[in-house]
Amino acid sequence: MNIILLGPPGAGKGTQARYLVEERGMVQLSTGDMLREAKDSGTEMGKVVAEVMAKGQLVTDEIVIGLIREKLETVKANGFIFDGFPRTLAQADALGELLEFEGQTLDAVIEMEVDDEALVQRITARSTCGSCGEVYNDITKPIPPNGKCSNCGGTEFKRRADDNEDSLRTRLMEYYKKTSPLIGYYYAKGNLTRIDGLGEIDTVRGAIAAALDK
Ligand code: AMP
Repeated sequence: MNIILLGPPGAGKGTQARYLVEERGMVQLSTGDMLREAKDSGTEMGKVVAEVMAKGQLVTDEIVIGLIREKLETVKANGFIFDGFPRTLAQADALGELLEFEGQTLDAVIEMEVDDEALVQRITARSTCGSCGEVYNDITKPIPPNGKCSNCGGTEFKRRADDNEDSLRTRLMEYYKKTSPLIGYYYAKGNLTRIDGLGEIDTVRGAIAAALDK
């Protein structure tokens, strides 16, 4: 089963993708993570994307489609979770073609709906474990008092360079202008399910499971 998690920055796509990986043995393909890796490794491509990402703008379709193409060609999986991809209509068309070429289908698109105020609160309070990527929130899910990650015991936590209010404003505008048209695109194809992304993590988890198992 191949699925897309669609939603604005801070909707909880990464958090829910991690559960699906654990529970269903699927493989998470996050273009954001791939781009951050490229940035950290200091490659030419990394240098090009670093500035774009810091501003909260979208990286070119050509680059992200290339990253996804490479994964689909080389990784064998019991289903992919596309997290943060596609973000434009051109990317959505390309994903359809790539899956078809690989003899695969797109089985569900889960739209996670969260209002802007909650997104700003979530993102400006967000940090992740430097070892395993577990996501924390200063208010709703603080780092344990002993300073150790509850998942892996790691002691280093980081905040994303683009998790600040300026960059977030641009990221939200990019979402509404370029990504939200995908809601209609997948609705028309008949594989869109909208869920409320504002609830407790486990409630959202249950709603996604129900959508995938129906
Ligand atoms: P994310 O981790 O999904 O929030 O992505 C972080 C940043 O990486 C975004 O703000 C964009 O600059 C870039 N990015 C990630 N995925 C894509 C994509 N599919 N298309 C264009 N830019 C992307």
